[in-house]
Amino acid sequence: MNILVINCGSSSLKYQLINMEDESVMAIGLAERIGIEGSVVKHQTTGKDKVTIEQPMNDHKDALKIVLDSIVNEEYGAIKDMKEISAVGHRVVHGGEKFTTSVVITPEVKKGIEDCVELAPLHNPANLIGINACQEILPGVPMVGVFDTAFHQTMPKSSYLYGLPYELYEKYGVRRYGFHGTSHKYVSKRAADILGKNVEDLKIITCHLGNGASIAAVDGGVCKDTSMGFTPLEGLIMGTRCGDMDPAIVPFIMEKEGLDSNGLSTLMNKKSGVLGMTGISSDFRDIEGAASEGNEKAIVAIDAYCKRVKKYIGSYMAEMGGVDVVLFTAGIGENSISMREQICEGLEGLGMKIDKEKNNVRGKDTVISTEDSQVKLLIVPTNEELMIARDTLELVK
Ligand code: AMP
Repeated sequence: MNILVINCGSSSLKYQLINMEDESVMAIGLAERIGIEGSVVKHQTTGKDKVTIEQPMNDHKDALKIVLDSIVNEEYGAIKDMKEISAVGHRVVHGGEKFTTSVVITPEVKKGIEDCVELAPLHNPANLIGINACQEILPGVPMVGVFDTAFHQTMPKSSYLYGLPYELYEKYGVRRYGFHGTSHKYVSKRAADILGKNVEDLKIITCHLGNGASIAAVDGGVCKDTSMGFTPLEGLIMGTRCGDMDPAIVPFIMEKEGLDSNGLSTLMNKKSGVLGMTGISSDFRDIEGAASEGNEKAIVAIDAYCKRVKKYIGSYMAEMGGVDVVLFTAGIGENSISMREQICEGLEGLGMKIDKEKNNVRGKDTVISTEDSQVKLLIVPTNEELMIARDTLELVK
């Protein structure tokens, strides 16, 4: 059974075709600049050369047609006929409190996703456009929605409520939702598999450190707390997002800088994080490079980043009453040897001992703790697409 996984952004569409017999990737690609000049699809079938198709695409339906044509192309495609696509799994960013698991997409589900637009105004509309385009071009093919927020819906009220008037939660749904749920779910289960244990028997802290970054406390396979909140702005310092700060800074800066709510949102989401702290870049490779040349701001930004991760590890350990596994995933978590080392530095007292030699690796499932470390430290590359495909298979089987 082949499953197409779709991840739609406002002007992009990422896809993977996965053969669920052996969970292998048959084709992977990206449509960019949809609806803007210079639209392009970059497609690669496994074992064949990468192709770039430059063609105007007015909307996601146009893009999807080109994507599907590429997938069935005689020369560079992966399958002969679209009928070989058994189901489509869609990444949906926000499921609010409505969606606690992945679901088969029905008109009611689309209405539910629509109802959550207010909570994710940039993402959910694009996800809906992708679903509608797929339904038009692949009528009769079952579609599944997999929500970034769903895994975190098991959090207790004490984790998801803010110290705000209760009626703001009741009236507007102001609470912690958490994001990257598909990744946290995948890597926590994968870590248990790597260690030959049942996820139900483990307390795991999952550190998803990418361009966006979040940490989750996963107890017995169930999310108990996570660092992102009402929006993906809360928690860790990220590439361009500020993460936690004193909320009183918001009105203060608005007044001082003469910013309205949009202006402040842009400042906190796009101009802050390590980019804002250093003025160099949002990419940690650049920050690490500058730090190694002695750039003071870059050194401080890395220190602040690592300190924030440590704080969350400590607090989730306290919250769960201990921890068996701390794992690192996503761009920085999988690839930055020095950031992992710095995060684990000084945590020996909490039972976490990193083995510097074992840690000298990128992007591979690896246990990086010493033999005598009480807590297992792991690198677990994330695979959100595979998780989406697995959930899709489960629901359409
Ligand atoms: P992601 O959002 O998971 O794709 O992560 C992307 C981020 O990972 C990039 O912005 C980089 O900051 C970071 N990254 C990727 N490779 C490395 C590396 N070798 N060293 C440090 N950071 C990296």
